[in-house]
Amino acid sequence: MQKSGVRIPHRPLPETSPVSIIARPRHDTITEVKQNAARIRGIGYLLWHTRHYCYHVLIGVLWAWTLRELWQEFQPQWLVLSVVASLLPDMDHIMYFLSYGKHDPYSKLVKSLFANREWRLLWYTIEKGHKYNTNLATHNYFTILLLTGLSLTAFLYERQASVVFLGSMALHYVFDIADDLIILGSVNPNWKRWGGAGRAAEHMAQANDERRSR
Ligand SMILES: [Zn+2]
Repeated sequence: MQKSGVRIPHRPLPETSPVSIIARPRHDTITEVKQNAARIRGIGYLLWHTRHYCYHVLIGVLWAWTLRELWQEFQPQWLVLSVVASLLPDMDHIMYFLSYGKHDPYSKLVKSLFANREWRLLWYTIEKGHKYNTNLATHNYFTILLLTGLSLTAFLYERQASVVFLGSMALHYVFDIADDLIILGSVNPNWKRWGGAGRAAEHMAQANDERRSR
């Protein structure tokens, strides 16, 4: 960054006496109020746009609670386990951005927004884009079946922590399907196939890249 472009941070007068508050130039106070308002709006914006993840956390909590009711027993670590498991399947998105889907223009946009610290735009892009990312490898019916089967097995063998963990993960995918139905009106193609769209799609994106960079 150029030296001339550096902005000196705004320093309010010390707020020790009422005199200093009255003596403070009016526009200073207004600027401060505006800055605070913008900051609050920024946080509110981020929270509003992360509500999909808040639902996932909520489902994790409800799952732990349901099992508590069922078993009439509770261990605090189950709650932690359940919440972690309710978010874990979305590591798929990060894997997509960094490995098997890195040539997707959507991944590139997300990465460049991240590098440029455009947090608001990044959040917005992920919120809108993550519904249209139809190439996720683990977001499919087979994963749900597998997790449900394992969870039931763990239930039969009274491996409670495993039931908490595997069941919560399965519920993540179930909620995502419901979310697809509500937002898109139908389920994305990724649910019906095992793994990502395959190397063909990735190769095509890579070839397009190379052509463009030439
Ligand atoms: Zn998900």
